[in-house]
Amino acid sequence: MKIVSVKGMRDLLPADTVWFQRLEDEARATFAAYNFQEIRTPIVEPTELFTRSVGEETDIVGKEMYTFADRDGASLTLRPEATASVARAYVEHRLWERPGLCKLYYMGPMFRRERPQKGRYRQFYQIGAEVLGGNSPVVDFELLAMLRLLLERCGIQDAELVINSVGCADDRPAYHAALREALGARLPEMCADCQRRAQTNPLRVLDCKVPADQPIIAALPTLESFLDDKCRLHFAQLRQLLDANGISYRVDPRLVRGLDYYTSTAFEFQHGALGAQNALLGGGRYDGLTQALGAPAQAGGGIGFALGADRFVLAMQAAQALSAALTAPAAVIIPLSAGELQPALALAERLRRSGIRIELAESGRKLSRSLELASKLQAGYAVIVGADEAASGQWQLKDLSRGQQQHIDTEGLEARLKEVAAAAPAEVA
Ligand code: AMP
Repeated sequence: MKIVSVKGMRDLLPADTVWFQRLEDEARATFAAYNFQEIRTPIVEPTELFTRSVGEETDIVGKEMYTFADRDGASLTLRPEATASVARAYVEHRLWERPGLCKLYYMGPMFRRERPQKGRYRQFYQIGAEVLGGNSPVVDFELLAMLRLLLERCGIQDAELVINSVGCADDRPAYHAALREALGARLPEMCADCQRRAQTNPLRVLDCKVPADQPIIAALPTLESFLDDKCRLHFAQLRQLLDANGISYRVDPRLVRGLDYYTSTAFEFQHGALGAQNALLGGGRYDGLTQALGAPAQAGGGIGFALGADRFVLAMQAAQALSAALTAPAAVIIPLSAGELQPALALAERLRRSGIRIELAESGRKLSRSLELASKLQAGYAVIVGADEAASGQWQLKDLSRGQQQHIDTEGLEARLKEVAAAAPAEVA
C-alpha cells in the first residue's frame, strides 16, 4: 500500500517554501528592528504546561492536542502553540533578572487536531513574538505597530486590526455571574460544551462555533461594562496611541481568544481573502501567566501574538503574482563535453560563492537538450562552455528570454548575473 502524509499534515514543496522563506526573512528583519531576539523551545512539552496555561476548558486542550505517554509514563504533548513554552522558558531561566524587557520571537510548527480545510491544518506554522516583564500600553502599541510594518513589508494591504479588552482576574467574577444569569433559561437549548462551560468557565461560551448557538451568544452582555478602572484606562491609553500614530482599528466587544491566559488587550488581524479562516494572526496580553507557572510578581506581565504562516502566505500570494525568479536559477552552466566539466565546475563554484543561484547541466548531452532543460527551469541565462570558451575564458552567454548570444568574461558574467539576482525580489515586492 502507498504511504501518504498524515491527514492535515502536508509537505511544503519548493514552490511553497519560497513563500515561507520570504515571510520568515521579512519577520526576522522587522523583529530585529524592534530589538527582539529568537528563542527556540522544544516541540514536545509536559502536557501539564498546556492544561495549566491554555486552560482545561478550551477546544485546544479539550479536543485538539496530540498527547501521548512517554515510555516512562510521563504525559507529553506536541505543542499546540508556543506562548506557554516561551513563558515556561522565561520562568525556568529566570529571564526577568536580565536588564530591560524580555523580547523574544519564535518560528516553527504547531500541532492541533482540528478538522482540516483550506488555511487550517493539523500541523501548521506559527511565527510569534512575546514581550515579557512590562505592563504598559506602550508595549501593546509597539507590538501592533511592528505587526503593521510586517504586513506592509509582506505586501498585505487589506488586513483589518480588530481589538478588544477582555478584562482581568479582578473583573472576571462579576462578568461570569452576569453571563450565567443571561444564559439562564436558554442554556438547555445550547450545545453540550456550552452547558458545561457555563458552569466551569462561562467566558468560553463566547468562543462557541455551533451555528444554532449564535443567536443566543449574540444577545449576551459584553465585557465592556464590567472592566475595572485599570483595564479601562489601559485600553483607553492603547487606543490613544493607535489614533495618534495613524494605525486604524475596529473595536469588537465580542472578540475573545481561544486560550484562557489572555487578560486586558486582545487583538486579531483579519483578512477578507481568506474566507472562513480569516484570522491572519491573533494575540493579546496575558498578565499573570508567568506567575501561574511559578514566577514571582516582579517577573511582570506579558503580551504576544502568533501569526499563522500558512494563512499569511495565502494572503501574500493573493496580493502578489508569484515570480519565477525567486525559485529559478539565474543561469544553467552547460559543459559541452566531459573535457569541459572541470572549467564549468570551477566557474559554477565561483559564481555560487558570490550568492548567485546556479544549476549545472550534465556534460556530454546534446546542447539542444540542455537548453531545453534551462528553459524548463525558467533560468534567465545559459552559459555554454565548449573547448574554445574553456581555453579563452570568454564564456558564451545566451539570454534565454531574448534568445541573444554574446561572449563575456568571468567578471562581466558575474556582474550580469548579480544584477538579475538583485532584481528578482524587487519584482514581487
Ligand atoms: P492562536 O494560537 O489560536 O491564537 O492562533 C494564532 C494564529 O495561528 C491564527 O490567527 C491563525 O492564523 C493560525 N492558526 C491557528 N490554528 C491554525 C490551524 N489549525 N491551521 C493553520 N493556522 C492556524
